Amino acid sequence: MSTLSLKKHGTGIVLEYGKVKLALDTGVQGATTLLSHSHADHIGRLDRADQVIGTKGTFDTHSARGGKLPANRIVVEYQQMTVLNGVNITAINAGHVLGSTMFLIEFENGLRALFTGDFNVVDSIVHERARPVKADVLITEATYGSPSWIFPSRVETHENIVKAAANSLAEGVNPLFNAYSLGKAQEAIALLQRRGISVVSGNHSIDEVCKVYSHHGFDLKQVPITSKDVGDLIVRGCAIVTSSPRHTEQHIRRMFGKMESRAIIDRMRPYSLSGWTLGKFKQRGFPLSAHSDYLGLLEFAKGVDPKVVYCFTENAREFSGHLAEAGLNAVPLE
Ligand SMILES: [Zn+2]
Repeated sequence: MSTLSLKKHGTGIVLEYGKVKLALDTGVQGATTLLSHSHADHIGRLDRADQVIGTKGTFDTHSARGGKLPANRIVVEYQQMTVLNGVNITAINAGHVLGSTMFLIEFENGLRALFTGDFNVVDSIVHERARPVKADVLITEATYGSPSWIFPSRVETHENIVKAAANSLAEGVNPLFNAYSLGKAQEAIALLQRRGISVVSGNHSIDEVCKVYSHHGFDLKQVPITSKDVGDLIVRGCAIVTSSPRHTEQHIRRMFGKMESRAIIDRMRPYSLSGWTLGKFKQRGFPLSAHSDYLGLLEFAKGVDPKVVYCFTENAREFSGHLAEAGLNAVPLE
């Protein structure tokens, strides 16, 4: 009987089992890549891949942020099974960003492996949560795999973001929310708009991703920073969501005179939207995360009920220890 081999490689992992070789979130010559989503830390050397399997959302968001689309790609939908050299590969919603995917890999002898990519077990406004499926082997991210990363409820975090925005606006200050351009920026925009707060998107990258969300059914009515209405909006009071405060400031300087742009920039109050705003990385902001927190990771692993768990990302070693305490056989990939 073959043994399953998992080795870290570039931005991902190479899986080998018998004659099967798959690259997970990395490009390797002679192998098919399973691409979980298009964040920069998951898309290394896709040009080397024989072919890349991913959802339309993943390829669209990759392209929207300037990524080169792999020439040989297989577009899959959630719950759709692709048969590749006798292996059944099923794409499953990961709840992390638009198009994000976990892959269930079923080998000819019946062994089932689940690769999570990055995933979130909590519903966000624009992404449905990931749900566990049974597998013999779980290959899971462990980004927040320590008990110091337990997030408040999504509703509470949403309320705190809206409150901070409303309070800033009442003081004549424009709240500036700093969030990744893919995923969290769109959730922040949707949240603020639902609560009656106008939103300017602070840089080009967010706008391009918002267009993709719109094509996929989420119409985010943000106003681009380059719009002629931005001056009025900022004076009347609006929130700004940006993934690059530096670019936002550059745009403002280009659009307004030196004095006016200085006054506008001075009237902005920055907040960070990230899980890292908790704990030792504490900074002004809110723990709006596209990842599962510690308890979410733990419950998910128990739900998969695997014989063995392999953990990757930061905190893999620590999370493996916690999984072992919970009775699971866990190994960090290092
Ligand atoms: Zn990610």
